[in-house]
Amino acid sequence: MNVDRDTAPAEDALEAGMREVVRKVRTYNPRADIDRLWAAYRRGRQAHEGQLRKSGEPYFVHALTVADILADLRLDVDTLVAGMLHDVVEDTSLDLDTVRREFGPDVAHMVDGVTKISDLRSHNPETRQAENYRKLVFSITQDPRTVLIKLADRLHNMRTVEFLADERQAGMSRETMDVYAPLAHRFGLAKIKWELEDRAFKVLNPKAYYAVDDGVLQTRAARERLIEEVSRPLQASLVEAGVEAEIVGRPKHFYSIWNKMQAQDIPIERVYDLHALRILVRTKVDCYHALGIVHSLFTPLQDRIKDYIANPKPNMYQSLHTTIRAPGGKFVEIQIRTYEMHERSEIGIAAHWKYKEGPGDEHIDFSRMVSWLKQLMEYQEDVTDPREFMAGMKLDLFQDEVFVYSPRGDIFQLPRGATPLDFAFEVHSAVGLHCVGAKVNGRIVSLTTELKNRDTIEILTSKSAHPGTSWLEIVKTGKARHHIRRWIRSTQFEESVRLGRDILVREFGRHKLNVHPDKDLDGVAQEMGYTETEKLLAAVGCGDLTATKVLARLEPREKKPPAKLVDMGKDIYAALLRRRVSGVKIQGLDSLMVRYARCCEPIPGDQVIGVVTRGRGVSVHRLGCSNLANIEPERLIDVSWDVGEEQVFQVKLTVTALDRRGLLADLSDAIRGVGTNIHSGDFKGDHELAVVSFLVEVRNLNNLERVLLAVRRVEGVQRVERYQLN
Ligand code: MN
Repeated sequence: MNVDRDTAPAEDALEAGMREVVRKVRTYNPRADIDRLWAAYRRGRQAHEGQLRKSGEPYFVHALTVADILADLRLDVDTLVAGMLHDVVEDTSLDLDTVRREFGPDVAHMVDGVTKISDLRSHNPETRQAENYRKLVFSITQDPRTVLIKLADRLHNMRTVEFLADERQAGMSRETMDVYAPLAHRFGLAKIKWELEDRAFKVLNPKAYYAVDDGVLQTRAARERLIEEVSRPLQASLVEAGVEAEIVGRPKHFYSIWNKMQAQDIPIERVYDLHALRILVRTKVDCYHALGIVHSLFTPLQDRIKDYIANPKPNMYQSLHTTIRAPGGKFVEIQIRTYEMHERSEIGIAAHWKYKEGPGDEHIDFSRMVSWLKQLMEYQEDVTDPREFMAGMKLDLFQDEVFVYSPRGDIFQLPRGATPLDFAFEVHSAVGLHCVGAKVNGRIVSLTTELKNRDTIEILTSKSAHPGTSWLEIVKTGKARHHIRRWIRSTQFEESVRLGRDILVREFGRHKLNVHPDKDLDGVAQEMGYTETEKLLAAVGCGDLTATKVLARLEPREKKPPAKLVDMGKDIYAALLRRRVSGVKIQGLDSLMVRYARCCEPIPGDQVIGVVTRGRGVSVHRLGCSNLANIEPERLIDVSWDVGEEQVFQVKLTVTALDRRGLLADLSDAIRGVGTNIHSGDFKGDHELAVVSFLVEVRNLNNLERVLLAVRRVEGVQRVERYQLN
């Protein structure tokens, strides 16, 4: 009946395919409800009747292949049924209610989850993509089997990617690299991850792909000889010791070979993965026994012995790894594991459902993987910018990770590129929020230092320390970003309220109004559309609302409008000075709502004025800064310094001097001689005149004046200027 004839209609091929799926299911689950599988097959085939794939095949070939891949993962009947029906809701007239009625709520739920994550076809791909991933992650946390169906779906789509237009090929491959392969890795599906990566690699960088392909082929004979030289004595010793073992070569994963060549800048012959063996044994004890035998025959590389049996990876991977020196000096990597560990390393989370139908398996830390995803969702919840969301997703999903230790010896997993700050937040949000510094392996390092495997990290905290916006550029994990962002948001609000209150008190005082911002503005706030008076104060503080507008609401119309600053004409700054109204205090650099204008670099001691910028708080300028001329007067506010001695400010100095030998050294000596740090310098020499600029770090105006005096005394100096005000 199943004779292979040229004229065999497509239906026969489909049915043969289905019989193959059923055969696979029977091998791992003899009690499976086969009728249910056939019912889903008939339903799906009928629904997709007449539809064709881009490859010209009947559409149902796709759904059936997805089920076949799921059968390779040894999944339960429900998942296979959902796999066969995964596209019916989106692409056929069959609706979700029918699926639910005929196949039950679990299947309907999975189909719904997969359907909601449609491919990228949108006017605004960025937003759409981000939205898709949000849905994807959400549906996985609801029922993790959804990710298995989605991965199987993506795998078949990548297998047939060449039938798509070039642009779609590249887009799908990029997305596969960025999201689906890392997802497969996270859930321990090594085999699927490799295939996805290699297929995407081939599309995205065909030249490199074929170079690796060629290299693998070229080195094949030498490689096989080497493997033979290692495995022959090894096999003999294992037999002698009574360890039942199977030695197998390792499948080639082109993309990881390429990555290693790139990262270490080495030719293909030197990539360890190429010379790799795997020893499969029956029990855990045999694993260690085999490791001992390997090490008694060959010298291991000390730092490349890894025990993932005692310390499984977060994705449940278990194995012993060692790299040995083979005859002739080449290195060979050997992995030792039980058959069960091996299976789990290839199908990962899928093992959870496989064993659910048999006896329970207590090794699988399944909830850990799902809770990891749930956390990821939470951290990304407050991210509204789709680009930022995607960047965060990629980082959190990205397979490259480093393992580091706390001083107590607890192990932490972080994404590669993570910094001590990420570690601090990983330990506890309170540790992160009060972090002032870090020691890596006993040495104080900068918070931007990239952590390496096996680093031991100690975080230094201080109760008074707090995050700054710059931290967002340092951290790599979603967790750290989430906590920093939350802290900044709440602090910014508090600071805006405080600033807004100060500004209003000052303005009310100027107009001799007996109004208290906290007590007397409820009505005005409501009138202006603020749900709380505090929100009005915050709006004034961050510059979204001007004090003049608030005043206008308070003062009856018939009253003469207040004298505007602009009326004071050119003497405005002098006038401000004369008035001596108590100003808004600038408390320091770490304030989120106060910044120092770069144009005139004010330092404590300078006469300054604040500008309430729109939405960004107050920026402080020196009186006389030319940029002030264009500011609406109502945005100007008095400010006064209230900065401690411990803060330093950078000021640029420009020195003009007669050029001579040793000038630069003399200038630096003079500056350092008064206890001042030089941040950086720049030298421009003419024939006779030299122009040297320094960025110096000072505490206040007195400090700066001492520096200026010292510089002026240097031989040949004609002029020294700080930023010139006109
Ligand atoms: Mn599909």
